[in-house]
Amino acid sequence: MLARGWCAVPAAAAVLQHGLRYLAAHAAVQDPFQQHQQPHSHDIVPILEVKGRIHSTESFSTIDGPGVRFLVFTQGCGMRCLFCSNPDTWTISGGEMVSSKEIAAQIRSVAPYLKPQGGGVTCSGGEPLLQPDFVSAIFQEAHAMGLTTCLDTTGQGSKHHHWDKVLPVTDMVLFCIKSLDPQRYTDLTGLKQQGALRFAAELKAQGIPFWLRYVLMPGMTDAPADIDKLTEFALQQPSLQGIELLPYHQLGVNKWHALGIKYPLEKMQPPPLADTLAVVDRLEAAGVNVICDAKRLRREAAAKEAAASAAAASANAAKEASG
Ligand code: SF4
Repeated sequence: MLARGWCAVPAAAAVLQHGLRYLAAHAAVQDPFQQHQQPHSHDIVPILEVKGRIHSTESFSTIDGPGVRFLVFTQGCGMRCLFCSNPDTWTISGGEMVSSKEIAAQIRSVAPYLKPQGGGVTCSGGEPLLQPDFVSAIFQEAHAMGLTTCLDTTGQGSKHHHWDKVLPVTDMVLFCIKSLDPQRYTDLTGLKQQGALRFAAELKAQGIPFWLRYVLMPGMTDAPADIDKLTEFALQQPSLQGIELLPYHQLGVNKWHALGIKYPLEKMQPPPLADTLAVVDRLEAAGVNVICDAKRLRREAAAKEAAASAAAASANAAKEASG
């Protein structure tokens, strides 16, 4: 199974709870899939078979979009994020060559389990927009099965005509923005920020529902000024449903070692919970909807503390009564 990258979600141990919250959060904001109430034109048009390269697939995921989802991790990425959890997806010539019809057959075999609660198909990577015809064909197949489609992307390494092929069959986007500071963006990814901003402008122009994904990296993306820039950007996006805050982790470091690539962030540690919660609070105070596992940890800690206080009070009461 593919280790969760920053195009996806960090902690495997929290997958189920995270997914349920994700679903609840989406449901609370708006239904991005209302367009499915109308049949798609491609329901009656034969869908082309397109070949593409994938890293792997995953039949049942409760993250990476609403409901239960079939994930397709496409092969190839033009970015070189310092914190990448899946450097094995980078080379476009790697992975496995498959056809969209083969992927469709896999999806069809599990479709009944995906349909409830707006589930469907998510294309992640790597960078799915590097293979627009392939991703478009998979999404058309998903729609023909009555499933929703979600594009997990950085918006990078692609051109406008790539979006034109994929976005018309995309119900929702998970958009990893990396950094709102242009220089820091380049330092982190090796690419210029302009491509990502152009993609954001396209989402805005087309009104496509999306979530921003933002990796919280101590000393690199977590300063108050960074969060304020993120907030400012978020508040200017009318179709944004919220921000998914992903504390930095080192789950993919073994892949760098296995590939013989020096991991550039050996000394970086995940942000302390209190620091992550401070960022959550800063964003929420500005009116931004936030998904972050740290919120669950805070709730659990508060519940534990309350239970301990109640137990102590009860023990005291029993002691006084007996004395
Ligand atoms: S965009 Fe590419 S390099 Fe960056 S985290 Fe995702 S797969 Fe890795």
